Amino acid sequence: MNKKIFQIKKYPNSILRKKCKIVEAVTTKEVEFFENMVFTIRAFNGIGLAAPQIGIPRQLIVADTREGVIKLANPQIIEVKGNDKMVEGCLSIPGAEVEVKRRHKVTVKGLNEKGKTIEVKAKGLLARVLQHEIDHLKGKLIIDY
Ligand SMILES: [Zn+2]
Repeated sequence: MNKKIFQIKKYPNSILRKKCKIVEAVTTKEVEFFENMVFTIRAFNGIGLAAPQIGIPRQLIVADTREGVIKLANPQIIEVKGNDKMVEGCLSIPGAEVEVKRRHKVTVKGLNEKGKTIEVKAKGLLARVLQHEIDHLKGKLIIDY
């Protein structure tokens, strides 16, 4: 597998405002893409990344927190509980720090790297990262809050 650090698209690049397309199937191409997304997050000391941030308008996200790595295609929030406020940054908007109100707990349904439908239950920071990355797939950014 070719390890690759992707270039991060920066605001106001129009790709960041696109509604991303559904991923029809998780193939070896997507698996390699997920791997390189993780590689890219680590290179830039991030904790999450969405495909449009590297110029690909498809519904793919990766979260990389202390709770481990989560890779999802077509992520959808199916359950929420509670509220939280926290200051967030974004690799695509260098220097921006915005207080964003989000749900404290979320359940996210999507396809994992094996193409299997899974449900991820998350709270706190991981829940926040997932909500942030899912926003990216809809063209929504922290500066919209
Ligand atoms: Zn972001």
